[in-house]
Amino acid sequence: MSLSPAPLIDARQFRIWDPRAWLTCAPGEVPTLLWVIGLHVALVVGLILLPLPPVSAMIAAVVLLFLGGLGTTVAYHRALAHRAVTLNPVIEQILIFFALCNGSGSPRNWVTMHRFHHQQSDKPDDISSPHYGGFWWSHLRWLWQAEQPDKDRLVKDMTAFRYRIWTTIQVPMLGLAVGAGAVYFLFVPWQEALAAMLWIGPVRLVWALHTQCTVNSICHLGAIADHGGSSRNVGWLTIAHMGQGENWHANHHRAPANPRIGQGLQLDLGWWSIRALGVMGLAKLKNSKATKVADDQGQGAEAEQPLEAETISQR
Ligand SMILES: [Zn+2]
Ligand SMILES: [Zn+2]
Repeated sequence: MSLSPAPLIDARQFRIWDPRAWLTCAPGEVPTLLWVIGLHVALVVGLILLPLPPVSAMIAAVVLLFLGGLGTTVAYHRALAHRAVTLNPVIEQILIFFALCNGSGSPRNWVTMHRFHHQQSDKPDDISSPHYGGFWWSHLRWLWQAEQPDKDRLVKDMTAFRYRIWTTIQVPMLGLAVGAGAVYFLFVPWQEALAAMLWIGPVRLVWALHTQCTVNSICHLGAIADHGGSSRNVGWLTIAHMGQGENWHANHHRAPANPRIGQGLQLDLGWWSIRALGVMGLAKLKNSKATKVADDQGQGAEAEQPLEAETISQR
């Protein structure tokens, strides 16, 4: 019998970081793994058999990528997770629709994971940290291998029907995201229609998936510092993120309540979209409440005032 003391490791830390095989799933996460595998298999097989879609399908894929990216960064991230901006309810719902079409999941789930990330950044409980799990854990594996934090605690401000309904219809929405290109069967020969489906479905969704995952992986490979943690700005990811601003991640961790992520000359089309919506009376900044909500969620010192106290038009 060993007399050595028990390892100083709490149960949660052990559960998250205990080594496991790639295909091991956290409870309830098998569909997530199958979704990720299915998309990649369809991508590889499809690109071999159907590499050339109609030009209009490529354009549609890019437009959907852009709208879905805006849905995630403007609605999910800046408006819902950090309450940095209040969107017109109709605009908010439209952006949520495109975010789901981009494979970002339901708004309640996305916001839960994101608030948890800010609470636990670079601590052992940060379930997407490359510093504890390695690059591939932070990029993909945590999606199906990490246990979900408590939704009810982290999204108390998102109990309204207009948010819950998206969780209910998440699966048919994913079906729509994969199969939307089927409309091409009405207009072009079946080979072209299949290629259009491939590019509007799996090719676009795999691109969107990996782009979003770079925020947790590549944008968190910096040295762990007191302020902003391991987050870093990664300029070359501007192209993958279509200039929408999420790649300026160190800025964001320094001031999560700031609706403007890219500073100075750093391209941030998410911010400029908010400004455009503000000019039309469809968005307004909500800094004081943003700070309060962030404090309520336990983000503490990270919930600072914006770096730039810009104001957009008020409704
Ligand atoms: Zn982060
Ligand atoms: Zn954030």
